[in-house]
Amino acid sequence: MWIDMLLVDVNATIMQATINASRVGAFRPKLTAGNMYSISGFDVSRCASNFRLTDSTLMIRFAESTGFDEITKLVSPLPIEGFRFRDDTELIGLANTSSQLPDIIGELIAVKSTVTDPPEEKNRVMATIKLESDVSVTLSIFDAKAVDFHQKLDRMLIDPKVIVATSINPKMVGGRLFLNATSGTHIYFDKETTARENFFYRLVVRDTGLPPAAPLLKGYAKMESLTIAEINSFIITAPSQAIHFICSGKVCRVDPEKGWCYVACSKCSKKLQRTVNSFTCERCVNHHAVGSLRYRVEMVIADDTAEGVFVCFDGVMTKLHNLKASEAVKLLAGDGVNPEDAQIPPFIADMEGKDYTLS
Ligand SMILES: [Zn+2]
Repeated sequence: MWIDMLLVDVNATIMQATINASRVGAFRPKLTAGNMYSISGFDVSRCASNFRLTDSTLMIRFAESTGFDEITKLVSPLPIEGFRFRDDTELIGLANTSSQLPDIIGELIAVKSTVTDPPEEKNRVMATIKLESDVSVTLSIFDAKAVDFHQKLDRMLIDPKVIVATSINPKMVGGRLFLNATSGTHIYFDKETTARENFFYRLVVRDTGLPPAAPLLKGYAKMESLTIAEINSFIITAPSQAIHFICSGKVCRVDPEKGWCYVACSKCSKKLQRTVNSFTCERCVNHHAVGSLRYRVEMVIADDTAEGVFVCFDGVMTKLHNLKASEAVKLLAGDGVNPEDAQIPPFIADMEGKDYTLS
């Protein structure tokens, strides 16, 4: 729809400039990041109040009459880069406000990635970054940007230490700060930027006592272990994505309100509707469906980062307890009671307080 860019002038003022789709053709061949231009005959308008890329409230719009010419002879000392770095306190202040897309700099500690070779659809990379305040945050990068990130890391001979990520969207999920990359995010490693170079040498000088990043990064080929906070963020930020992961946590409580089983259609496993003397399956359009009892248990599982609601279905519960739901119902007292209304069997209630690994 349009191209946004950031311009920096001799006073180190950064301003957003926009070229509408109808005019992109005329200017696109001239646009090269890092080149110097003179611009004339442009419109000035207010920035949208959402997702601001600069501190300036004004922006430049390219118009029909805009002159845009590259200057090859250095006529004035332009800064070679400009960032809006924010620390963790400032990021928390901006989280969930959709007001600003700030930049961050930090130490790359670990990377989890779903990117395969060759890449499939829907990709995600989660990078753990330690900010200067020693607070660690997770940066999520999606789809094409995730593939770029993964492949850039793959091509590097030495694992990078310092990362700069621009135009990121901070979010609070379950009381923890998460950062999402946007379509405008650029990633720079180590000495690709001057800001990063300074940070890099500080890190090298200050022996952190941490293991070097290299061995931690070797595992990035496949996303495996996730914390519950990361899973929560994953679900909130990417509702349509399905991934495989491993997660460990403790069952805090089994929800008794939600029951423990249901009568399922023996053909399609959908919950049957009970009528006076028969069961109806709406999916199979069968008014005399044969029912079989299946597990469905809701529980809250937590690790030291957050808690989340997990629904355990028949296959998992049968395997875990080596007992079918139809057999479990025989252990319960009270003949003639509808098992769906019966109390949760003790072996399910006993899951509370125990640790499990989910995959
Ligand atoms: Zn059915």
